[in-house]
Amino acid sequence: MDRDLASDRLGFSSLAIHAGQEADPLTGAVVPPIYQVSTYKQDGVGGLRGGYEYSRSANPTRAALEECLAALEGGTRGLAFASGLAAEDCLLRTVTVPGDHVVIPNDAYGGTYRLFARVYERWGVGWTSADLSSLSAVRAAVRPGETKVIWVETPSNPLLGVSDIAGLAQIAREAGALLVVDNTFATPYLQRPLALGADVVVHSTTKYIGGHSDVVGGALVVADGTGDLASRLAFHQNALGAVAGPFDAWLTLRGVKTLSVRMDRHCENAAAVAALLGSHPKVSSVLYPGLPGHPGHDVAVKQMRGFGGMVSFRHAGGEAAAVEMCGRTTLFTLGESLGGVESLIEHPGRMTHMSAAGSPLEVPADLVRLSVGIEDRADLLADLSRALG
Ligand code: PLP
Repeated sequence: MDRDLASDRLGFSSLAIHAGQEADPLTGAVVPPIYQVSTYKQDGVGGLRGGYEYSRSANPTRAALEECLAALEGGTRGLAFASGLAAEDCLLRTVTVPGDHVVIPNDAYGGTYRLFARVYERWGVGWTSADLSSLSAVRAAVRPGETKVIWVETPSNPLLGVSDIAGLAQIAREAGALLVVDNTFATPYLQRPLALGADVVVHSTTKYIGGHSDVVGGALVVADGTGDLASRLAFHQNALGAVAGPFDAWLTLRGVKTLSVRMDRHCENAAAVAALLGSHPKVSSVLYPGLPGHPGHDVAVKQMRGFGGMVSFRHAGGEAAAVEMCGRTTLFTLGESLGGVESLIEHPGRMTHMSAAGSPLEVPADLVRLSVGIEDRADLLADLSRALG
């Protein structure tokens, strides 16, 4: 892509629409075509056109998405995968070996926890869960010489914990570890971890980046001024092979173009939902970083431009009432996932975070998680009020 587009001279929305996506040189098509192809004609052995050889290694539609995501996160390289977990797996296989240790959040996404506890542990990578919002707890969990990664989700799924990225980056640097930030909830529109000192950003692009609940995908973006980590990750992306397919990459690119306008509306609607829940007698607590009483509010103000579209709350009636409420909304659809234009409701303990049951990462049984969509605010509030009764 054009060098000017890659620079910070263009604003976020302009980059989302144009980075990696100049008009097709052959036809002038203003949207990158879906290169639904596995292999490419060579002009004599090794005579590749534009470096394309085989679509696991590189594909022009995927390359457009990767370039766009790198620009949005302010990184040097983006890599797109078949899912968020495929991106996490590629990263961990690149940067850890048996005998290494990682620090993970005590409130990570259930699937991320399962990857560490049920897959990597079997291959000899040890882990310690810690409260990542407490820098002293993280310092205590780090094992000098052994800890290779500090992994943080901020805001976290589903408890909306907030961690100080710049503070964690300093601890990671001192320990010789990488700071990995799962930026799925915030998106690069609200928070740019690489600018705060993180080494790698992870995304489930399934969520806000895709934004329309029609595609599963994942991404990594690296800061990596020297390019060494970026090239090791690119090697593993090809060697492991869990890449984003051309149509999935195209859908994700189509979604990301409107990320900023969607996020503004998600934030406004979520703030209104948090306010409604905060004054409701059937709600014992609301977890939303935009609320001044949230323990991470000050850090969120410092490092985010908005507080996002995710709101969790604890039902005063306990587990049974929380489960029942999830089945009673009509506009909020009962379902897993998040970050789409439509509002979703779920019970993390029995759905997305069931894999953490019985572990230090088990979530409260009375917890309900809302992915607040971009429908009309009055309709969303009316639906929740009705369902709470
Ligand atoms: N990270 C977070 C914060 C998530 O919420 C999820 C999925 O819900 C993932 C990673 C994994 O992504 P995927 O489902 O695309 O594999």
